[in-house]
Amino acid sequence: MTAEGMSDCLFCRVVARKSPADIEYEDDAVLAFKDIYPKAPVHLLIVPKRHIASIMAMEPGDAEVIGRCLLAARKLGEAKGFAERGYRVSVNCGPEGGQHVYHVHFHFLAGRRSGA
Ligand code: AMP
Ligand code: ZN
Repeated sequence: MTAEGMSDCLFCRVVARKSPADIEYEDDAVLAFKDIYPKAPVHLLIVPKRHIASIMAMEPGDAEVIGRCLLAARKLGEAKGFAERGYRVSVNCGPEGGQHVYHVHFHFLAGRRSGA
């Protein structure tokens, strides 16, 4: 996606601080912020700062940043007191996977018991 096209991407705008978000974690590669419609007592979205539209758009060179997103989940799990209780991390992919925002993101859901 071109730099111009990224202004059409909601999560690129959040990364660029052009859209408001309640940011909970940031490093050089990853940003995490509160989901605006939380589906759990703690519901964060963890995104790579670089635009990747979905899992189906991933290239081999994206593997590290995706791993960094999971390391951010670990840090958030520790920082928010869920290391022992646990939490769910999930990714939706494509229309039937329930993906609505096409900038890959990990849902971090904590504070309620997840089903199967
Ligand atoms: P998905 O359906 O997996 O693509 O997830 C998109 C998520 O983004 C949903 O859980 C929405 O509630 C959330 N969302 C949409 N707009 C915003 C926003 N401006 N800030 C934070 N979260 C958002
Ligand atoms: Zn984007």
